Amino acid sequence: MPHHSIQVLPPLIAERIAAGEVIERPASVIKELVENSIDAEAKQIGVFLQAGGTEWIEVIDDGKGMTREDLELSVCRHATSKIRVFEDLMDLQSLGFRGEALPSIAAVAEMSIASRPSTDASADTFEIKVVQTASGRATAAKVANQNFLGTKHGTRIQVKSLFSQIPARLKFLKSPSSEASAVREILERLALTHPSIRFKFTNDDRVVLDLPSEAMESRIKRILADGNPFEMIHSHLPGAWSIELYWLKGLSQANTRSMYQIVNGRSLKDRILQTALLAPLKQSFLPGNFPAMVAVLKIPRDELDVNVHPTKTEIRFLDSKKIFALCHAGVQALLEESRPQNLFPSSVGYTTHPEVHANTPAPGFPMQGEITSELPYKSKPFGTYRGTLFSTYLVFEEDNDLILVDQHAAHERIRYERLKKSILSRDQVEEQALLVPEIIKLSDESLRAVASTLPVLKNLGFDAETFGETSVVFRSIPAVWGNHELPIRLFNLLERLQNVSEQNEKELVWDETLFEKIAMEACRSSYKAGDWLSESNAITMTQKLLACEHFGNCPHGRPTLIRISKNKVEEWFQRKV
Ligand code: ADP
Ligand code: MG
Repeated sequence: MPHHSIQVLPPLIAERIAAGEVIERPASVIKELVENSIDAEAKQIGVFLQAGGTEWIEVIDDGKGMTREDLELSVCRHATSKIRVFEDLMDLQSLGFRGEALPSIAAVAEMSIASRPSTDASADTFEIKVVQTASGRATAAKVANQNFLGTKHGTRIQVKSLFSQIPARLKFLKSPSSEASAVREILERLALTHPSIRFKFTNDDRVVLDLPSEAMESRIKRILADGNPFEMIHSHLPGAWSIELYWLKGLSQANTRSMYQIVNGRSLKDRILQTALLAPLKQSFLPGNFPAMVAVLKIPRDELDVNVHPTKTEIRFLDSKKIFALCHAGVQALLEESRPQNLFPSSVGYTTHPEVHANTPAPGFPMQGEITSELPYKSKPFGTYRGTLFSTYLVFEEDNDLILVDQHAAHERIRYERLKKSILSRDQVEEQALLVPEIIKLSDESLRAVASTLPVLKNLGFDAETFGETSVVFRSIPAVWGNHELPIRLFNLLERLQNVSEQNEKELVWDETLFEKIAMEACRSSYKAGDWLSESNAITMTQKLLACEHFGNCPHGRPTLIRISKNKVEEWFQRKV
């Protein structure tokens, strides 16, 4: 048995272990520093790196700055100006609240901070240097006044030789360019939550991001679509529980990278929220494709359980059902916004918003949210046909359920799946040569990923090859594609190609515009609300609907059928309590 003796860790070692929780790589340093700048009410924030931040990090802001005393305190552990009482821990308003970032960075790098407060026009600029030491105890020295991004007050933090004394951590750093793209991702997230702040980010003196102070919509377009002209659809359901969605229609991605969530001002990556947002959108997207969408939620703070995790990107909702209902209502409003005008009966209303729910005089009346969640879909035909309601809804009774089928939505779904199948089943794809070849620019990373997969496209009716070091040139496309917004659609195709597997090769021909075109076609020739259907037509149609792959929704996401239990009906009539 080896002899164990218990030792108290020397302070610097303890400090480095604690720092390790928070500071994993340059991106974590930048996240903490930029959050501090945002909390300091900066209007402009500059991030300047060398070698992806592995050699040099500089963050400058024009915020309210610090006095000499505050500057000296700022590098002490658990020193924070943002928390006075424990209740503040529950509040997400300010970004940082642990008072650990600056001392943690100081423990694993060489840091210097220069700052001048905005409170006093005659104040001096002080600078403090902390070099790989345990927290605190450094004195600030007066230095010459300087400008902070063109302003007299603000803070400039420089961080050098990150992890140079900690080989174990150095080993985990990736290449400077990967570190730089991690920084970019963090900055884009922060920039989305604060569109009015100007952000500039350079790496090795090359400008990576330059975002002017702007409105939310243009900030989103700049970050999600690189300024490409995608159509933006917006929906907003205000209230104590509010949801606002910004969707770049037509820009779909092979992963969820372009799904952003902001809850009470904080950017998050929360799985529950993501699922809640995707569920009602699923019908509009091919398997493996995800929307480019920013969701902004405001939730009463006592409904949140703030995870006091060091990086705080997760959150717990006390009432996840309500979150699902809120997301569902938000997405329905979004789909309503995006629907081509006059194609659908205007009588379709959505009453799923929790606010509405709370105020409804008849509690217990079925809200769509609760109906969808209790729908036990069955694949056999429905029980007994009972006739038509309002010349629009087919009524069935089965066991102890009442089932309403929207004849228009159902017929759309059937026709849509039939049209889609006929397009995908064509073996010989007709090619259409382009008069002017389309050249699509990609990032180095993406180009490397798709280059070897380009031949797959040949079988699908595309003639494509790499062009120079940054592009792919298309000389022909499948005839079914048409020419509408071709560059955007080809760009999306290449993005998707990076994640292609053999079985879904064929689905690559599919794209959002084609989807839209076929959905419209399916709609145009469908039974309308108000058309009379014979009993045998009604039954056949419902059987065909149930044979569809996605029978629960029309191609635009509206429900095709709703099931109401006998119990529910008895509740309405107060036969059961
Ligand atoms: P926290 O942000 O959790 O309070 P930090 O270690 O990140 O802890 O920062 C400590 C304190 O230093 C902050 O509470 C704030 O008062 C001050 N501070 C840090 N960065 C800035 C900045 N860029 N501008 C003004 N004050 C700052
Ligand atoms: Mg902080």
